[in-house]
Amino acid sequence: MSQAALTLEEFRAQVRAWLEERAELKPPPEELSWGKGSDTVSVFHNATQDEMRAIVDEGRAWMQLRATAGYHAISWEQRYGGLGLPLVYDRVYREEESRYRTPSIHEAIGITTQLIAPTILAHGTAEQRDRYLATMLGTEEMWCQLYSEPGSGSDLAGLATRAERDGDQWVLNGQKVWTSGAQFADFGYILCRTDPDVPKHRGITAFLLDMRSPGVTVRPLRQMSGGASFNEVFLDDARVPDRLRLDAVGAGWRVAMTTLGFERSAGSGETGGKVPGKVTRLMELARHIGRDQEPAVRQELARLWTHYRLHGLNIQRVRAKLRAGQTPGPEGSIGKLFNDIGAERITEVASLLLGPKLVADTGEWGTYAWSEHVCGAPGGRVAGGTAEIQRNIIAERGLGLPGEPRVDRDVPWSAVPR
Ligand SMILES: Cc1cc2nc3c(=O)[nH]c(=O)nc-3n(C[C@H](O)[C@H](O)[C@H](O)COP(=O)(O)OP(=O)(O)OC[C@H]3O[C@@H](n4cnc5c(N)ncnc54)[C@H](O)[C@@H]3O)c2cc1C
Repeated sequence: MSQAALTLEEFRAQVRAWLEERAELKPPPEELSWGKGSDTVSVFHNATQDEMRAIVDEGRAWMQLRATAGYHAISWEQRYGGLGLPLVYDRVYREEESRYRTPSIHEAIGITTQLIAPTILAHGTAEQRDRYLATMLGTEEMWCQLYSEPGSGSDLAGLATRAERDGDQWVLNGQKVWTSGAQFADFGYILCRTDPDVPKHRGITAFLLDMRSPGVTVRPLRQMSGGASFNEVFLDDARVPDRLRLDAVGAGWRVAMTTLGFERSAGSGETGGKVPGKVTRLMELARHIGRDQEPAVRQELARLWTHYRLHGLNIQRVRAKLRAGQTPGPEGSIGKLFNDIGAERITEVASLLLGPKLVADTGEWGTYAWSEHVCGAPGGRVAGGTAEIQRNIIAERGLGLPGEPRVDRDVPWSAVPR
């Protein structure tokens, strides 16, 4: 029977049988108890480069196994290796997979498959789509997103990396920073300034860059949470053929907005609308140290639980809009804020419960481990656009409040003092 002819329930049964043969079921939550299993609650991997490569490779191996059944790209067209099914089938797969122990999917894989692949689908030429999409979705080739620079993060449109035309090639010079997964990437999707003499949003062009090209140097950056998952990327006369320009010259801002839309919705639904395991872990911690009957502790835990329930309802609202054929508005930004604020509150409750144990590695299970969450949570708040920027978007585009003063809006980029 073709996949398209399957009802949702038949598809669910097929997925379940497939997973049954290849993965182990997770234990029921009531079997999770204090002191058992790993106590990691990190936000970022605290791992050496070799360990991180192993994590990435394990995730890729799982994606490639999924690709043998088309389960890596359920809603994508068959020509790109997908099953061409409606999005709801994809959700059914994810619901089923979440019941099994499967490798963690490193953010470099999400960037490749959930951010850059749909951007190339939306803006790429037929040649670019045919060359790259299937290998991206199957993670045979990995990509990174080269947006931020030392002088432009929130003000992305102010970016300074230059691309100058030389015949049928472009010559790139400048520096990118915070590039997640660049050390594992075969290709990068990069925004460059191609015309400095027009206002900033109009002089940007997007390109697809072979990361092994001469003139591209990747240097990992060590984070306060331990690992080094993102990088500085230097471009010294790196060359890109014009056929790897993504969309028109000067259309880079439009392309960038497409990707940011995907990034916000990916970052907003991280927990899939469920109360995350870290919250139940904090409840377990409160019981273990005998503080679960303290009114102040109970109130903080209840506040955290309620926060994630509301987050779940926001996600349901987005899904309902999508099902009704409507385009979600600022819900992606609202969801990202829910995640950011939730992670901060988790830090506060862990600090309230653990006090000095948070900073002293005594070897006790489930105590010092929380320091990795505390050091990693601020990074989540910044990645994909800071919380302040999400609030600006909600205020201006959602609530229609007056915009921020933008003094450089109509000024050529080259004339803006910096
Ligand atoms: C974990 C992680 C992964 C990342 N991965 C990537 C990646 O793969 N590729 C990539 O290109 N980038 C990546 N980034 C970079 C990220 O997009 C930027 O850090 C982010 O956009 C903020 O830019 P900035 O660090 O330059 O801070 P700035 O823009 O300098 O902001 C500094 C502070 O000022 C505030 N601020 C700035 N402008 C305003 C405003 N208009 N209104 C109110 N407050 C404002 C900000 O909220 C922030 O608190 C990553 C970052 C992190 C933390």
